[in-house]
Amino acid sequence: LLEVRDLRKCYGENVVLADVDLVVEPHDVVCLIGSSGSGKSTLLRCINLLEDIEDGVIVFEGRDISDPRIDRREARSRMGMVFQAYNLFPHLSVLDNCTLAPRHVHGLGRSEAEERARELLAQFGLAEFATSYPDRLSGGQQQRAALVRALCTQPRLLLLDEITAALDPELVGDVLGIVRDLAAAGTTMVLATHEMAFARDVASKVCFLDQGRILESGTPEAIFSAPTQERTRQFLRRVL
Ligand code: ATP
Ligand code: MG
Repeated sequence: LLEVRDLRKCYGENVVLADVDLVVEPHDVVCLIGSSGSGKSTLLRCINLLEDIEDGVIVFEGRDISDPRIDRREARSRMGMVFQAYNLFPHLSVLDNCTLAPRHVHGLGRSEAEERARELLAQFGLAEFATSYPDRLSGGQQQRAALVRALCTQPRLLLLDEITAALDPELVGDVLGIVRDLAAAGTTMVLATHEMAFARDVASKVCFLDQGRILESGTPEAIFSAPTQERTRQFLRRVL
């Protein structure tokens, strides 16, 4: 579904990603782990075409989307991304947040978009908040709404950047439970996370990033139980 080859990304002099290779098959749940500043968010942003890259290729659904001639908006419309700080649009109701892209990017009619959004909101326990504004929702509810908004476009690939990092501890399980359900339903995801127990449990593949490189990747068992790199071991000792 997605193949990143030899990706290189710099901010000025600072090389933030180098030699990054990543393959994501349909139904994969790929967890990116690594210290703060290792490049997890930048990698997700590059995949989502939010960043210009210096070098490398990003192939999504068989097409090179890193080609500058490509319609970025069209390529991005087939991915969903959710960020750490649930940036819902504050001036729109939850329902309108969820129908904006389906209506204006995917060309769905209002009633069809609203029907789909209401169904998903109900499924995520948010039916009663459809007409509420985001500031009426708790952090966990806002993050669930942000997930629903991403799912409303029926993305082929979901990119999640530490979506539980800003939540109160008691709400984390709630949102992770939903991601777990999505994984069980076969949703293809790449997610950056500091939740190691979750990564171990849900990931089909774990990638350990260190200073902008994927130093080691493999099954959760391989990475968590038998890491081959000393830096991976150091990192895991600190976080487990
Ligand atoms: P965290 O776990 O804290 O979220 P991360 O692994 O997501 O960290 P990134 O946010 O991808 O790390 O950052 C990787 C590096 O890129 C860091 O050194 C950071 O300072 C740098 N960086 C990120 N965004 C920018 C930017 N817009 N301009 C310049 N440097 C940036
Ligand atoms: Mg980050």
